[in-house]
Amino acid sequence: MVSVRTNWAGSHTYEATDVVTPASVTEVQELIAASPRIRALGSRHSFTDLADTPGVQVSLEGLPATVEVIGDVVRVPAGLRYGDLATELVPRGLALANLASLPHISVAGAVATGTHGSGRRNQSLAGAVRGMELVTGTGELVRLTGAELTGAVVAMGTLGIVTSLDLAVEPAFELTQVVYEGLSWTALLDRLDEVLSCAYSVSVFTPWVGEDVGQVWVKARTSTGSVTGEPVEVLVDAGAHVATEQRHMIAGMAVENTTPQLGVAGPWHERLPHFRMGFLPSAGEELQTEYLVPMSRAAEALGAVRALGEAMHEVLFVTELRTIAADDLWLSGAYGEDAIALHFTWHRDPLRVQPLVDRLEEVLLPLGARPHWGKVFRAHADALAPLYPRWSDFLDLAARLDPEGRFRNAWTERHLGI
Ligand SMILES: Cc1cc2nc3c(=O)[nH]c(=O)nc-3n(C[C@H](O)[C@H](O)[C@H](O)COP(=O)(O)OP(=O)(O)OC[C@H]3O[C@@H](n4cnc5c(N)ncnc54)[C@H](O)[C@@H]3O)c2cc1C
Repeated sequence: MVSVRTNWAGSHTYEATDVVTPASVTEVQELIAASPRIRALGSRHSFTDLADTPGVQVSLEGLPATVEVIGDVVRVPAGLRYGDLATELVPRGLALANLASLPHISVAGAVATGTHGSGRRNQSLAGAVRGMELVTGTGELVRLTGAELTGAVVAMGTLGIVTSLDLAVEPAFELTQVVYEGLSWTALLDRLDEVLSCAYSVSVFTPWVGEDVGQVWVKARTSTGSVTGEPVEVLVDAGAHVATEQRHMIAGMAVENTTPQLGVAGPWHERLPHFRMGFLPSAGEELQTEYLVPMSRAAEALGAVRALGEAMHEVLFVTELRTIAADDLWLSGAYGEDAIALHFTWHRDPLRVQPLVDRLEEVLLPLGARPHWGKVFRAHADALAPLYPRWSDFLDLAARLDPEGRFRNAWTERHLGI
């Protein structure tokens, strides 16, 4: 038994009485049967009370870490972190289509919250799920497929404890990473979709203030494994230039923490994340907020948030803009429509962050924005329900798989109404 008391950011102290680490799926089943209130805990990277419970938290780090390739999927123990999964896949010549900004997060926790990387044609990490093994609130071990699976993948731990996930894999590939600077807001807004689709994965980092956008991180797939000097036409045409030294997206932070840039090709797992496995991801003492806005409303969303730039300036480390391809996962932020994600890395100052989150929601929710479930947001269930066409189907699924409400907590009550 271990005692982990706060989330990664140190912004939430867990009230759970214990963190238990079962060594087998049978032990998970026994724990659920014995616990009126229980929640799965991943790598603790969510920013709120999401993973908390008045009962016990269950870490799956003690389950056997065996990774099994079955045809075109890989069966992954739920508690494994993406970085560790990558070290299993690389010797087998396999890759995942995409990764988040950091490799430190657990697969099950990332999938449960709709965590994503970037790419106009890349779905969220949850989009790679092809099967799921789950211990439900009745203690039953089930393998979900079909419609139930699409309902259960992004479920924030409300349906049960996921013990393994089947993820789509593909042959290993290489990418280059190049940072561009000097792009103006005028050029970005004029050619937004062209910029965001100029490579396999594109992230725009901005402080919102000033006429200069900030940085554009371009991750391009290559088959050559060499240094590539190919300039990205749309960015060069728009007046941007290539950074000739390694960059961090937050001024003054250690560049050693970031994955190699400067156009040197490298394997997928060392280029898709922004941060290296052995180093601190992002700023450290921070909070994060993110909204996924339908791509069709991107220009309006950017305009509305830019108008808040000065108000956010002192509390914001940086914003990242990414894209996520549409999926059919019921509570996914990209359900039914391609999305642009507007992410905010804040100073860890909740009293100053909260009013800004309120102002963001005032302008973004009317555009159909859906919050990242793992980050700081305010909207309650009544405001969120209309944004998800399958909301009531999800609540029915939750009632069936967790009839006694073992996996519910204060967060699910506020934001899901269960
Ligand atoms: C520095 C930093 C960078 C980040 N970068 C990104 C990014 O690039 N893209 C992005 O989209 N998000 C990003 N996030 C957010 C992060 O991916 C999510 O918060 C995600 O939930 C983290 O996974 P976790 O395992 O740490 O989750 P936890 O906080 O441990 O848990 C989150 C939720 O998952 C549930 N869960 C965990 N394991 C299981 C299981 N086995 N069965 C059922 N439910 C389970 C928990 O019950 C809880 O509801 C970042 C966060 C940080 C701190």
